[in-house]
Amino acid sequence: MFQSRPTGFAIMTDHTPNLRIGHGHDLHRLAPTSAGGQPLILGGVILDSPIGPVAHSDGDALLHAITDAVLGALGLPDIGQLFPDSDPTWKGAASDRFVEEALRRARADGWWVANLDATVILERPRIGPHKDEIRRSVARIMGVDESRVNVKGKTHEGVDAVGEGRAIEVHAVVLLARG
Ligand code: MG
Repeated sequence: MFQSRPTGFAIMTDHTPNLRIGHGHDLHRLAPTSAGGQPLILGGVILDSPIGPVAHSDGDALLHAITDAVLGALGLPDIGQLFPDSDPTWKGAASDRFVEEALRRARADGWWVANLDATVILERPRIGPHKDEIRRSVARIMGVDESRVNVKGKTHEGVDAVGEGRAIEVHAVVLLARG
């Protein structure tokens, strides 16, 4: 797969897998709607919750992390740079648009989604009962088969802001392939 140069550095050959991995992370503060919290949306699915994210857009932390994972794999600027919260265009925006724009850029360069794996860290509501619906929704938004999408949920064991139910955190990893 690699040829060694006398310096010890490896150079890519035509046989090197054409893959790019990207990681995305997002965190939103959660608040009651009376204090600026919006409805709790994850992967495009609205969950029943008395508290929701404080955000400029719709605050879908899962779709934000996925967007940053795709942009990261492409070596592009992050979601905050491409869709700044100072721009009124994105106020209340459905986060599908961020994912779709990131994937449009990927496809334009010949990349397609091999798989996505995400972890949602949320104290309540528990996302276990909603995981399948969220997974289906994310697959639809990304335009890929469900088998390429995985969504996991866990709590933060009651500690720190996330564990105290004052924030939601998401990690996402995406693998892009080409050729
Ligand atoms: Mg966000």
